Amino acid sequence: MQDKLLINGALIAGEGSIEEIVNPENGETIARIPGANTAQVNDAVLAAEQAFASWSQVTPAERSGLLAKVADTIEARAEELSRLESLDTGKPYQRMLEDEIPAIVDCFRFYASACRLMSGSAAGEYFEGMTSMIRRDPVGVVAQISPWNYPLMMAAWKIAPSLAAGNCVIFKPSENTPLTMLELAPFFAELFPPGVLNIVAGNGPEVGAELAKHPRVRMISVTGSVNTGKEVLKLAAGNLKRTHFELGGKAPVIIFDDADIKDAVETIRSYGYYNAGQDCTAACRVYVAERIYDEFATELAKAVSTIKYGDINDPEAEIPPLITARHLERVDGFVKRAVATGHIEVLCGGKPVDGPGFFYEPTILKGALQQDEIVQQEAFGPVVSITKFDNTIEQAIEWANDCEYGLASSVWTKDVGRAHAMAARLQYGATWINTHFMLPNEMPHGGMKQTGYGKDLSMYGLEDYTIVRHVLVTH
Ligand code: NAD
Repeated sequence: MQDKLLINGALIAGEGSIEEIVNPENGETIARIPGANTAQVNDAVLAAEQAFASWSQVTPAERSGLLAKVADTIEARAEELSRLESLDTGKPYQRMLEDEIPAIVDCFRFYASACRLMSGSAAGEYFEGMTSMIRRDPVGVVAQISPWNYPLMMAAWKIAPSLAAGNCVIFKPSENTPLTMLELAPFFAELFPPGVLNIVAGNGPEVGAELAKHPRVRMISVTGSVNTGKEVLKLAAGNLKRTHFELGGKAPVIIFDDADIKDAVETIRSYGYYNAGQDCTAACRVYVAERIYDEFATELAKAVSTIKYGDINDPEAEIPPLITARHLERVDGFVKRAVATGHIEVLCGGKPVDGPGFFYEPTILKGALQQDEIVQQEAFGPVVSITKFDNTIEQAIEWANDCEYGLASSVWTKDVGRAHAMAARLQYGATWINTHFMLPNEMPHGGMKQTGYGKDLSMYGLEDYTIVRHVLVTH
């Protein structure tokens, strides 16, 4: 297993704290990865700074060619990388291979093309005898910190647009799931000039915080929890870094009484539980119109009880275990406190699965009320709450928006006018109509409120890694 860091084009053993990597399927330790120490983080930042002078001048066509090679290599190594990601995260192998790898490859391909197509305002003579024009230039040294739920995909979402825009990067994977990015480090070392892409493993409070406060880092991008975002924001204030946050989510799913119940049930069965609900867009906070409430809940319970899990090598396995024993306890705590309210009924699931791994039963909590913790806070597990509403746009909007997160939402109705009226008023970065969880690489993904303000994917993701500049020429 490749466990070296990538700093200034060289593979180097980490000299910082050692992180134990555990296979969530059986709780066994699979690796001990030494993270970077402070001096190594500093070396990576200085290497990126030095590389920036030439990398920022490389033509878009050349950067595009290198990103296309990343896509081709990940595609060619799909099976090997899927095995490793599966070992590290507990994801069913087939899901990783068929769902995530193609999206990751496509993300690199998208930015390989997008960096050749930057657009902006036309130049013009806004003062007589002077031409003004806009440039979009890279920010410089960019540090990126990612979570454990989609290790390789989050790396693609971050690395592809930032390198495409001409920045140099120090990437820190989650301390729980560094294996796939470390495995790719020797390939990156050969592909990119030294310092353009550095990979430093390690935990948040040490390596992440070091990057967040480093005075030569010009921008820091974080996908993770709201608390981590707030910590990083404080540390980034030291040199007024640009910040880019994709934080938690608690997606409302609003089902009006004219919705296609079968479709909604199938979709929530898939995307309320995909990746065991360890997903910032998970369809986990369901509001159902009173007329169809009981029927919907019964149908969803029937569907959810058929979700397959337990053996990640079974081609039919749908969901993984939770990432750690600690996270399993956290999710179980949410369910126990929900049950303790006295008004919430467990329709299916509701407890950890016996065994050495960290599986949790797919769970439905019926009868949740707007102010309940399970409606307001991100559990990040296979737990969906159902709340009855009065089928009006007013109540749906009031309750859906009454939440500190603002990433994704979906509305289920056959009435086009009502769908648009809802979409116009929902305070979420994305609203899907009669579906959920659709994330094309061409469209932006990012939040509002405490989910943060960074955009991943699309041209907006590329623009987030650039600075708009004004150049004026006197005639
Ligand atoms: P986390 O916040 O615990 O960790 C995320 C990353 O931040 C890790 O690499 C960690 O090492 C680092 N980190 C932690 N503390 C830090 C600190 N003080 N300074 C610097 N870095 C620090 O999150 P997680 O548990 O890995 O992931 C789950 C969270 O991520 C959930 O809240 C989920 O909603 C969110 N998430 C959001 C999106 C999105 O697109 N909005 C996507 C995936 C996950």
